[in-house]
Amino acid sequence: MDDGDAIRAEYRDLLLDDVGTHTGLDLRERIVVEEDFCVSDFAARYNAAEGSALGFAHTLRQTGPLRPDHRSSALDGLYFTGGYTRPGIGVPMCLISGEHAANAVLEDFARVDA
Ligand SMILES: Cc1cc2nc3c(=O)[nH]c(=O)nc-3n(C[C@H](O)[C@H](O)[C@H](O)COP(=O)(O)OP(=O)(O)OC[C@H]3O[C@@H](n4cnc5c(N)ncnc54)[C@H](O)[C@@H]3O)c2cc1C
Repeated sequence: MDDGDAIRAEYRDLLLDDVGTHTGLDLRERIVVEEDFCVSDFAARYNAAEGSALGFAHTLRQTGPLRPDHRSSALDGLYFTGGYTRPGIGVPMCLISGEHAANAVLEDFARVDA
Protein backbone atom coordinates (compact mmCIF):
# COMPACT_ATOMS: atom_id res chain seq x y z
CA MET A 1 0.00 0.00 0.00
CA ASP A 2 2.27 2.74 -1.24
CA ASP A 3 0.18 5.83 -0.67
CA GLY A 4 2.64 7.93 1.28
CA ASP A 5 3.04 11.70 1.14
CA ALA A 6 4.86 11.75 -2.21
CA ILE A 7 2.27 9.74 -4.13
CA ARG A 8 -0.61 11.65 -2.50
CA ALA A 9 0.99 14.93 -3.54
CA GLU A 10 1.44 13.60 -7.07
CA TYR A 11 -2.24 12.62 -7.36
CA ARG A 12 -3.34 15.87 -5.75
CA ASP A 13 -1.53 17.74 -8.52
CA LEU A 14 -2.95 15.48 -11.22
CA LEU A 15 -6.50 16.02 -9.97
CA LEU A 16 -6.18 19.76 -9.53
CA ASP A 17 -4.53 20.10 -12.94
CA ASP A 18 -7.33 18.06 -14.52
CA VAL A 19 -10.03 20.22 -12.93
CA GLY A 20 -8.12 23.30 -14.06
CA THR A 21 -7.84 22.02 -17.63
CA HIS A 22 -11.54 21.27 -17.88
CA THR A 23 -12.92 24.29 -16.03
CA GLY A 24 -10.28 26.97 -16.45
CA LEU A 25 -10.18 27.37 -12.65
CA ASP A 26 -7.13 26.82 -10.47
CA LEU A 27 -8.69 25.51 -7.28
CA ARG A 28 -5.35 25.68 -5.44
CA GLU A 29 -5.95 29.34 -4.70
CA ARG A 30 -9.38 28.61 -3.27
CA ILE A 31 -8.71 25.68 -0.95
CA VAL A 32 -9.56 26.54 2.66
CA VAL A 33 -9.72 23.08 4.25
CA GLU A 34 -8.07 20.01 2.82
CA GLU A 35 -8.00 16.34 3.78
CA ASP A 36 -6.83 13.36 1.78
CA PHE A 37 -7.99 9.77 2.19
CA CYS A 38 -6.38 6.86 0.43
CA VAL A 39 -5.79 3.11 0.45
CA SER A 40 -4.04 2.86 3.82
CA ASP A 41 -6.80 4.97 5.40
CA PHE A 42 -9.43 2.50 4.18
CA ALA A 43 -7.37 -0.30 5.72
CA ALA A 44 -6.77 1.50 9.03
CA ARG A 45 -10.17 3.10 9.55
CA TYR A 46 -12.49 0.45 8.10
CA ASN A 47 -10.37 -2.70 8.30
CA ALA A 48 -10.88 -2.99 4.53
CA ALA A 49 -8.90 -5.86 3.02
CA GLU A 50 -5.81 -4.45 1.31
CA GLY A 51 -7.40 -1.00 1.62
CA SER A 52 -9.98 -1.73 -1.04
CA ALA A 53 -12.66 0.98 -1.25
CA LEU A 54 -15.11 -1.20 -3.14
CA GLY A 55 -14.46 -4.80 -2.15
CA PHE A 56 -13.42 -7.37 -4.72
CA ALA A 57 -12.61 -6.15 -8.21
CA HIS A 58 -15.43 -6.52 -10.71
CA THR A 59 -13.78 -9.13 -12.82
CA LEU A 60 -16.15 -11.58 -14.48
CA ARG A 61 -15.65 -14.33 -11.90
CA GLN A 62 -16.22 -11.98 -8.97
CA THR A 63 -19.30 -10.18 -10.24
CA GLY A 64 -23.00 -10.52 -9.32
CA PRO A 65 -23.95 -14.14 -8.67
CA LEU A 66 -20.28 -15.17 -8.84
CA ARG A 67 -19.35 -13.20 -5.74
CA PRO A 68 -18.92 -15.20 -2.50
CA ASP A 69 -21.93 -16.92 -0.96
CA HIS A 70 -23.63 -15.80 2.27
CA ARG A 71 -22.97 -19.13 3.95
CA SER A 72 -19.43 -19.87 5.08
CA SER A 73 -18.06 -23.02 3.44
CA ALA A 74 -15.66 -23.42 6.37
CA LEU A 75 -17.95 -23.12 9.38
CA ASP A 76 -21.61 -24.04 9.81
CA GLY A 77 -23.64 -21.19 11.28
CA LEU A 78 -21.31 -18.45 9.97
CA TYR A 79 -22.89 -16.04 7.46
CA PHE A 80 -21.55 -13.15 5.43
CA THR A 81 -23.25 -10.10 4.04
CA GLY A 82 -22.27 -6.80 2.44
CA GLY A 83 -20.35 -5.66 -0.59
CA TYR A 84 -17.91 -8.57 -0.66
CA THR A 85 -20.77 -11.03 -1.12
CA ARG A 86 -23.62 -11.47 -3.60
CA PRO A 87 -24.91 -9.46 -5.36
CA GLY A 88 -22.15 -6.85 -4.93
CA ILE A 89 -21.29 -3.29 -3.95
CA GLY A 90 -23.43 -0.21 -3.52
CA VAL A 91 -25.95 0.48 -0.79
CA PRO A 92 -28.95 -1.06 -2.64
CA MET A 93 -26.94 -4.22 -3.42
CA CYS A 94 -25.79 -4.44 0.19
CA LEU A 95 -29.39 -4.22 1.43
CA ILE A 96 -30.31 -7.07 -0.91
CA SER A 97 -27.29 -8.96 0.35
CA GLY A 98 -28.51 -8.52 3.93
CA GLU A 99 -31.93 -9.83 2.97
CA HIS A 100 -30.39 -12.86 1.25
CA ALA A 101 -28.17 -13.59 4.25
CA ALA A 102 -31.15 -13.31 6.61
CA ASN A 103 -33.12 -15.68 4.37
CA ALA A 104 -30.23 -18.15 4.44
CA VAL A 105 -30.27 -18.08 8.25
CA LEU A 106 -34.04 -18.60 8.32
CA GLU A 107 -33.82 -21.48 5.82
CA ASP A 108 -31.04 -23.20 7.75
CA PHE A 109 -32.67 -22.86 11.14
CA ALA A 110 -36.04 -23.95 9.79
CA ARG A 111 -34.26 -27.04 8.50
CA VAL A 112 -32.72 -27.65 11.96
CA ASP A 113 -36.10 -27.22 13.69
CA ALA A 114 -37.95 -29.57 11.29
C1 LIG B 1 -15.90 6.80 -1.91
C2 LIG B 1 -17.10 5.87 -2.04
C3 LIG B 1 -18.26 6.34 -2.60
C4 LIG B 1 -19.37 5.50 -2.71
N1 LIG B 1 -20.52 5.99 -3.26
C5 LIG B 1 -21.61 5.22 -3.32
C6 LIG B 1 -22.84 5.74 -3.81
O1 LIG B 1 -22.94 6.92 -4.21
N2 LIG B 1 -23.93 4.92 -3.85
C7 LIG B 1 -23.86 3.63 -3.43
O2 LIG B 1 -24.88 2.93 -3.48
N3 LIG B 1 -22.70 3.10 -2.96
C8 LIG B 1 -21.58 3.86 -2.88
N4 LIG B 1 -20.40 3.35 -2.41
C9 LIG B 1 -20.33 1.91 -2.07
C10 LIG B 1 -20.96 1.62 -0.71
O3 LIG B 1 -20.53 2.59 0.23
C11 LIG B 1 -20.48 0.22 -0.26
O4 LIG B 1 -20.71 -0.74 -1.28
C12 LIG B 1 -21.23 -0.20 1.00
O5 LIG B 1 -21.12 0.78 2.01
C13 LIG B 1 -20.66 -1.50 1.52
O6 LIG B 1 -21.41 -1.85 2.66
P1 LIG B 1 -20.88 -2.97 3.63
O7 LIG B 1 -21.88 -3.07 4.72
O8 LIG B 1 -20.49 -4.19 2.86
O9 LIG B 1 -19.48 -2.41 4.20
P2 LIG B 1 -19.14 -1.05 4.96
O10 LIG B 1 -20.15 0.02 4.69
O11 LIG B 1 -17.70 -0.80 4.61
O12 LIG B 1 -19.29 -1.44 6.48
C14 LIG B 1 -18.41 -2.32 7.11
C15 LIG B 1 -18.25 -1.82 8.53
O13 LIG B 1 -17.62 -2.83 9.31
C16 LIG B 1 -16.66 -2.22 10.13
N5 LIG B 1 -15.66 -3.23 10.53
C17 LIG B 1 -14.64 -3.74 9.78
N6 LIG B 1 -13.97 -4.67 10.49
C18 LIG B 1 -14.58 -4.74 11.71
C19 LIG B 1 -14.35 -5.52 12.87
N7 LIG B 1 -13.36 -6.43 12.94
N8 LIG B 1 -15.15 -5.33 13.93
C20 LIG B 1 -16.17 -4.43 13.89
N9 LIG B 1 -16.45 -3.66 12.80
C21 LIG B 1 -15.66 -3.83 11.73
C22 LIG B 1 -16.08 -1.08 9.30
O14 LIG B 1 -15.47 -0.09 10.09
C23 LIG B 1 -17.36 -0.57 8.61
O15 LIG B 1 -18.04 0.41 9.39
C24 LIG B 1 -19.28 4.16 -2.27
C25 LIG B 1 -18.10 3.69 -1.68
C26 LIG B 1 -17.01 4.54 -1.57
C27 LIG B 1 -15.75 4.01 -0.93
